[in-house]
Formats: sequence, structure tokens, C-alpha cells
Amino acid sequence: MKPEALLHPTPAGLFCPIGRFHVDPVRPVGRALITHGHSDHARAGHGKVLATRQTLDIMRIRYGEDFCGSEQAVEFGERVEVDGVTVCFHPAGHVLGSAQILIQKDGLRINVSGDYKRGTDPTCASFEPVACDVFITEATFGLPVFHHPDPKGEIGKLLTSLKQFPERSHMIGAYALGKAQRVIRLIRDCGYHEPIYIHGALARLCDYYRDQGIELGDIRPATLEKKDPDAFKGAVVVGPPSAFQDRWARRFNEPLIAFASGWMMVRQRAKQGGVELPLVISDHCDWPELLETIREVGPSEVWVTHGREEALVRWCELQGIPARPLHLVGYEDEGD
Ligand SMILES: [Zn+2]
Repeated sequence: MKPEALLHPTPAGLFCPIGRFHVDPVRPVGRALITHGHSDHARAGHGKVLATRQTLDIMRIRYGEDFCGSEQAVEFGERVEVDGVTVCFHPAGHVLGSAQILIQKDGLRINVSGDYKRGTDPTCASFEPVACDVFITEATFGLPVFHHPDPKGEIGKLLTSLKQFPERSHMIGAYALGKAQRVIRLIRDCGYHEPIYIHGALARLCDYYRDQGIELGDIRPATLEKKDPDAFKGAVVVGPPSAFQDRWARRFNEPLIAFASGWMMVRQRAKQGGVELPLVISDHCDWPELLETIREVGPSEVWVTHGREEALVRWCELQGIPARPLHLVGYEDEGD
């Protein structure tokens, strides 16, 4: 069987005609397999949804009880038959519950890795390399200029700033699912045990991470009910990046704006966003990790879904691995 007969791109996303399912569809479909809970991959309104328990829970938290017609939870490593196609989920190391989806039929194995990273992250299960014929990878940071530093070094910059500017509220922009919890956990692992204040938009997901056994320490709502301007003097406040662009942030004491994202490597982006303290913390592979993963997985073919496809396709070809860009649209990750 040609790989395209088992899985191919359509406007709604990757589609398996034999199993009659889409992977991470960008529009409502009859049956969806979902890699993880970020809003560009996990959308509401599908008929049947197959995903890890944690991804299903996250979708429910974000979209409400009736986010889909019916749901089926799958364990990592469990083999599930979908209309004669075998699917199996493996950890992707991206956010809590995130999975790669291995699709198998008649000895052909296609692995949709979704979004993934290789660095250490105590807030989710680590990426597992899965042997396959076709490896489908993202390329969010698929250019040789992208090298992500050690995240603990980035948190070190924050802790230094807190000492330098003990009066200022340190406002950290971090996406609500995954990045925020990882940043809080990193801060704890770097030895900071003061209360950390969170924007209301993060509350339910932080509660869910804690319910799942991810230790986040003393976190409290960043509400300014008391109207005491000194209430958050020198405190760490975490919120979604959008919150820091409106009046909410300005009510804090001499706010110092930080932003945790892989894009903070690009000085221009930090400048444009008015970010005083860029923290290069990414939940995606950098360039060396993409190459390392392809070498480790050893596929006979690579398909690149979204991001900076061309450089990665070119690199694969130079290694003698056939590769092609899929130019999938609708995946600009909220958790970059
Ligand atoms: Zn993602």
C-alpha cells in the first residue's frame, strides 16, 4: 500500500480514508483522533473523538461538557482498531496528555507526531521514539538558527531580576495550557517557593495539572480586589500573554513584563511585544532536536506538516530520506 492510501492531507486536516477518521482536524468531522489539547489541534464540534484521557479532560475544561458527540479514551501503548486500521498513542512530551498517533495497516506504519519536544519537562510524559515508515513532523522551529537554551537558565534570569528589582511585579506571559504550568514548575524546581499569582484564565488548567499529580506549589489568584497597589510588590504573576496588553497588567506595581516562548529567541518579536524580559522556553523541538529525532526514528520517508517546512525537507533530502511538505493550514500553535 502506498502511504497516501492510508493517510493524506485534506482541507480539514490529515485523513485516513480506510479508517474514516481525521487527525487533529481543523473543522468539524465525523471522527477525530486528537494529539493534544492546544486549540489549533483540539477543536470542539466533532462527532466521535479518540484521545488520551487527559486530552479529553482538557477539551472538556476548555469547551464544556458537550465538546463532541461521543468520546473514547485511549491509554499510551494501547492498540485500538478503527474500521480495520490499528492506531496506537505514544507520549509526545509537548503538554499534559500529548500524544503521537501511530497508524498501522498491512505492515505500513505512519506516525503522526503532532507537536512534540525532547527536552526534560516534569509536567508531562517524555517523548518516545516510535519506529515507523513515514514520520510526520511539525517544523515550528525548523531553521538552523533555532537553538533553545536550558530552560532553567532562563528561569535563572527571572530570579536574578526579582533580586535586582524587588519592588516590581514580575508579570510572566505564558500560554494557558502547558507553558504556564511548566513555567511555574520550573520556577519551583529552581528553588523559588513564594506564592505565585495566576490570572483567572489559568485557574482551571492549573487545578487540573495538580489533580494529575503535577506539583505547582503555592499558587493564588492574582485578583486586585483589595485595591492595594502594594499587594503584588516583587511578586511573580503568571497570565496569558493577551492579558498583559490590556489594563489588567498596568494595575500592578511597576510591572516588569516577561514572556516565556520559543519565539523569544527572535529579538524583534520581544521588542514588538514590549517584553522587557524574554524567556526562551519552548514546548517544541529546536533544529538540533528535530534532526536528532529523525535520525533516531529512522523513517524511510518524512512528511512535514507546518512551520518552516523547506529547510527540514531539504535537510532530509541531503540525508537521502525522501521528504515532502504537507503545507497544512490552521496550525499556528498557541503553545509555542
Ligand atoms: Zn501544541
